Amino acid sequence: VERVLAVGRQLPFGMISPDESSSWIHLRRCTSFWLARSACYRDAAMRILLVEDERSAARMTAKGLREHGHAVDVVGDGVSAVRHAATVTYDIVILDLLLPMKDGLEVCRELRSTGDAVPVLMLTARDAVEDRIVGLDAGADDYLTKPFHFGELLARVRALTRRRALPILPEHLTCGRLALNTRTQEAWSDGQPIELTA
Ligand code: CA
Repeated sequence: VERVLAVGRQLPFGMISPDESSSWIHLRRCTSFWLARSACYRDAAMRILLVEDERSAARMTAKGLREHGHAVDVVGDGVSAVRHAATVTYDIVILDLLLPMKDGLEVCRELRSTGDAVPVLMLTARDAVEDRIVGLDAGADDYLTKPFHFGELLARVRALTRRRALPILPEHLTCGRLALNTRTQEAWSDGQPIELTA
């Protein structure tokens, strides 16, 4: 969808028919609307709060998530994490366990005590069962031990956000001559495939 939106933005409207132009505008508006409301969808863009005090790990993780189309806010301590979560609606919080000022457990407990049900994926450097138990009891939804494979992080993020709500972004969108498959990210005009840029 992001790729179609990008193409839509770049289209030279003067070089295509008014019909096609308005279809693109409409399709763009529709997909923007659905994107905004479909954070639960498997491949939809999500707003993620990453709480990690190790700068290189935070930078790498945020970079990877952004490359997958997600908007990522990064904070390096527990107090900032609680403040951000209170002011911004996130689709998921990726929360390191050991943090300065306020650790991941305290952050998690504080979020839950205010009724914030945002999915929390806890990260820890130790694969200790006690850590996992305490983290889950504090309100975390899932656990990942560092170092982790980035693919596993993405899969867990998808699983946690999928669990929250039913997908509302349809797989097939059509508007006039234009058609879009939101799962495969393919688009057609008059049945002819449109080559999309990244
Ligand atoms: Ca840490």
